[in-house]
Amino acid sequence: METICALSTAPGQGAIAVIRLSGSRSVEIGDSVFFTSSGKRLATCLPNRAVYGEIRSGGEVLDEALVTVFRSPHSFTGEDTVEFSCHGSPYIVQEFLQLLIRQGARSALPGEFTQRAFLHGKIDLSRAEGIADLIASGTAAQHRLAMHQMRGGFSQELGVLRRALVELTSLVELELDFSEEDVTFADRQRLRALSLEIETRLRRLTESFAVGNAIKNGVPVAIVGTPNAGKSTLLNLLLGEDRAIVSPHPGTTRDTVEDTLVLSGIPFRLIDTAGIREHTADEVEAVGISRTFLAIEQAAVILWVVDLTAPIEETVALSGRLLSGSCSLIILLNKRDLVPHSVVEATSAALGATAPFPLLPFSAVASGSLAPLHAALVEAAVPGHSADVVISNVRHYEALVLSRAALCRVVVGLADGLPADMVTQDLRESLHYLGLITGEITTDEILQTIFSRFCVGK
Ligand code: GDP
Repeated sequence: METICALSTAPGQGAIAVIRLSGSRSVEIGDSVFFTSSGKRLATCLPNRAVYGEIRSGGEVLDEALVTVFRSPHSFTGEDTVEFSCHGSPYIVQEFLQLLIRQGARSALPGEFTQRAFLHGKIDLSRAEGIADLIASGTAAQHRLAMHQMRGGFSQELGVLRRALVELTSLVELELDFSEEDVTFADRQRLRALSLEIETRLRRLTESFAVGNAIKNGVPVAIVGTPNAGKSTLLNLLLGEDRAIVSPHPGTTRDTVEDTLVLSGIPFRLIDTAGIREHTADEVEAVGISRTFLAIEQAAVILWVVDLTAPIEETVALSGRLLSGSCSLIILLNKRDLVPHSVVEATSAALGATAPFPLLPFSAVASGSLAPLHAALVEAAVPGHSADVVISNVRHYEALVLSRAALCRVVVGLADGLPADMVTQDLRESLHYLGLITGEITTDEILQTIFSRFCVGK
């Protein structure tokens, strides 16, 4: 494979810049540009040890640097690799990369080092994807998920599933081999129990995507309600700052305001919307209202701020529009400090009759705990979250869904006494989709899509 080079640290000025060279000629190319202070050639230096020296270009010293040689297969890519830590000047980096290219290396493509690690069997695909997620992680929970995936936690779980599926397939195939003799070898009840067990594990994994996706991509929450219900006050309270404009005049939040709140490691993207009114003569406000409905469509959770001081009939009229959606809903009965308890009860009764949603009496101005609202948000985003292995990658999710669908057919097939050859076909399909995740089965297109997400130098 060609020897590739790239800057692996972030571009721009910095204390140091790391430039990587990987491929069969990397030590030779390294030796043509780097001169150790001891006079030893890199080819004879001990691997995994840093050596000090000069980078020279046409007799001129370009920089002083620390260099480490990693020998195949004991490197990240599995190939001979040389890592130069030089001074973090964009000029030095540029000159040095051009020098390496003149000596026979070529610029690496995005993710090419990691792709080589995969191609040389150093890591499977899901672990490679974990690395990309780790680099992109911005919260503690995102970091935890990516770390687990990169270190092979998910790959292990897939390995267990795979072995169970292979065993099941061999048991069913045994039956197939002797089908002429009209004997049933493995007890079908047992086979069915085995397949159900695997199906349960697959289901748990696919269900964990709700959590993984929420942690990775955030949960859009639309804060909706009539004008003046207290939406902006609530947003400011949740974010702990004066983010939205609060005003006693109805219709002041004309556009949508968005900010992020992290709860239990899940980033919630809070979207404050223009108040919903059935009729408005104000054109600007009308645009705001139509944006509100767009925000509602795109939200995973709707936080409905009910104004307890408004007539109950108005609230009930609005409920028709908000309760029909498919996403999770939390109803906040706001301004409880302004109304007697009977109004809270009457409104709860009017809304609660139709709704299996949390109804929280609340005051956005009186001091009180936000804990019940926080808990309701987390529960609405990821109901009953308790999975140990969490998947967060859409590609894995889709493959798991297909794998599980094939296995469901196996469960039904075994119960219905379907011939063994038909059952094995579905079992093979289920295995095939698991193989797509780790990269045992892969296409150039899949690799292209995955590795192009990486930055150059990784
Ligand atoms: P929005 O139009 O829904 O964003 O409403 P705002 O957040 O701008 O609030 C409208 C008015 O109601 C402001 O004067 C707030 O101070 C007031 N308000 C909001 N929530 C409460 C509450 O729980 N109790 C009381 N007493 N006033 C509130």
